[in-house]
Amino acid sequence: MIQPQFRPIATSLIRSVFLWATLCALLIGAIQAAYSYLHVEEEFEIAVREIGQSHVPLLSVSIWDIEPDAVRRQVNDIAARPQIGFVRLTVATGQVFTAGDTSLASLATRRFDIPPPGRPLGVIGQLEIVENPRAFYRELLYTVGVAAVGYGALTLLICALIAYLLKRELERPLRRVAQFAGELTPDRLTVPLVLERAPGHGRDEIDLVVEGFSVLQSGINSHIANLDEQVAQRTTELESALASIRRLSTLDPLTGCFNRRLFNERIQQELDRAMRYQRALSVVFCDIDHFKRINDTCGHLVGDQVLQEAAECFRRELRAQVDWVARYGGEEFVIVLPETALPSAVATAERLRLAFTASLIKVVPIMSITASFGVTQHVPGETVQHLLQRADSLLYEAKNAGRNRTLPAL
Ligand code: GH3
Ligand code: MG
Ligand code: MG
Repeated sequence: MIQPQFRPIATSLIRSVFLWATLCALLIGAIQAAYSYLHVEEEFEIAVREIGQSHVPLLSVSIWDIEPDAVRRQVNDIAARPQIGFVRLTVATGQVFTAGDTSLASLATRRFDIPPPGRPLGVIGQLEIVENPRAFYRELLYTVGVAAVGYGALTLLICALIAYLLKRELERPLRRVAQFAGELTPDRLTVPLVLERAPGHGRDEIDLVVEGFSVLQSGINSHIANLDEQVAQRTTELESALASIRRLSTLDPLTGCFNRRLFNERIQQELDRAMRYQRALSVVFCDIDHFKRINDTCGHLVGDQVLQEAAECFRRELRAQVDWVARYGGEEFVIVLPETALPSAVATAERLRLAFTASLIKVVPIMSITASFGVTQHVPGETVQHLLQRADSLLYEAKNAGRNRTLPAL
């Protein structure tokens, strides 16, 4: 979108004020011109009346006494009046006297018939008077000139004053508000908007804007504080959800032991650590004997209970925080014994085997439940795969050898 050109508010207002002031001055000038015209016309009428009253009787006597010099003097006196442009006196004998601007001779005239002295009847001459148009122009120029200069100066003065006040009272504070709004960032929300205003001014719209900003800032501030609280709460919820997902994804739901996924990850870490620090590490594979038969005889629920009890028993018998057990498959468990060489591992497996059968008697009293164990120790440089394969083979051999036994080997 094309942005309209920026124009300061004071400039726009001054331009409007100047335009309107000029229009008003022109209107007043026109009224003054009309007034000048009426004034000039009235002056002319007064002059005409005075000529009729004073000059006409004198001319009557001068013509009657045949005194051409006196007549000429009278005619010149009449033409000398500023309102009169041209005068022509035509005596009955045919003699003509003129005075003033002859170029005005053809314009509209006022006529006086000059009677003989002391007699109302009869005409001994005719006086024609033409108005002086320059008198009107002079008057017009004067009044309109005074109006133009006076109003022009007044207009300029008022415009300058308004411009100064607008800049001081409106433009400067508004620019400061705009600058403040432009610089408003989350970390500046506590910085208040301060305007340097002329002392002694009342509370006005600019103050309302400042107050509005203050309300807006505190509103945003409390909203942000609220957001922080909400984010912290959501983070806690997410973290606990994440922890339970992590727990669920690493634990076997039936027995609560680590699952096969976690076992694969962790056994590699155990092996790496044992190799790095040249420590012993043993692994025990355990498989419940004839588990299928338990399921078939007592049902799957009892089978599940047997698996749960087996896990519980192993956890009970092992060193907390050091040894750990994972469900490897159906009724197969793997027990990892860090810091343990083969003889101790065999002893542990034997202890587990006996404890297992003893605790399972309580779950399934009708039969003796046993388990077989394959035990081996990690050989330096050997992979996890090899280690597990050896333990599994030993377990297989224990099964083949009649079950309910522990078979160790390196
Ligand atoms: P062996 O002594 O040779 O190990 O014989 P076994 O019967 O224990 O072994 P087999 O592999 O023949 O049978 C294992 C049975 O375990 C089969 C399967 O249905 C059962 N099983 C596997 N997982 C579960 C489980 O989560 N719950 C129950 N109840 N049974 C399971
Ligand atoms: Mg099995
Ligand atoms: Mg089995």
